[in-house]
Amino acid sequence: MAIIASNLQAVRAAMAAAAVLADRTADEVTLLAVSKTFPATAVRSAFQAGQRRFAESYLQEALDKIAALDDLGIEWHFIGPVQSNKTRPIAEHFCWVHSVDRLKIAERLSAQRPVSLPPLQCCLQVNISDEDSKSGVRPDEVSQLAHEIARLPNLQLRGLMAVPAPTDDPLVQRAAFARLRELYLQLKSEGLPLDTLSMGMSHDFAAAIAEGATIVRIGSAIFGERNYSAR
Ligand SMILES: *Cc1c(COP(=O)(O)O)cnc(C)c1O
Repeated sequence: MAIIASNLQAVRAAMAAAAVLADRTADEVTLLAVSKTFPATAVRSAFQAGQRRFAESYLQEALDKIAALDDLGIEWHFIGPVQSNKTRPIAEHFCWVHSVDRLKIAERLSAQRPVSLPPLQCCLQVNISDEDSKSGVRPDEVSQLAHEIARLPNLQLRGLMAVPAPTDDPLVQRAAFARLRELYLQLKSEGLPLDTLSMGMSHDFAAAIAEGATIVRIGSAIFGERNYSAR
């Protein structure tokens, strides 16, 4: 799959260019490859091209790939909606969860995290621009929830994540990411030791990097368009 290797190279170059434009360095932004709907063979190709961190949104599909790729030592991130009856396999098989948006979910993940593993690295998902979306905590509820989650023993709260409403207007993209950054800076000023702004996807990662993203989550620009009916 030479196309995956060349897509990865192009994405990394575009990320570095966006970082330079923002007076940042390329190593301040981590690339998370979003492999949902794509087969384990595609993940293996990306791994062979040097990619080490991968993200999935659908639990069963993710567990199948994690098992099939066990030999690689991939760092797996969960970025999909977390149902409360599905927290245990997430706590057992992932390094990171970006989509925590309720205390009950966080408490279950902490209680179910195996003590043999490091704390589960977490981001709070914020509903930054899409009022109709059911995912994400409201901006005015972020602070209280972040402080509650930060007290849980087997989680490490690293920062905030958002999926803004899609738009092609770079200024609208930047405004949404700037709102997430403001919330993040506010939490830091309240004493939370955060270091992660998980924001930016294939169509808007340049705007996200301009506004301070430390992790971008990129799927289709690496693996191609998703075909949900084939899942
Ligand atoms: C699918 C997905 C992505 C990647 O989207 P692309 O547009 O393919 O880059 C990023 N974040 C989340 C939460 C996703 O569900």
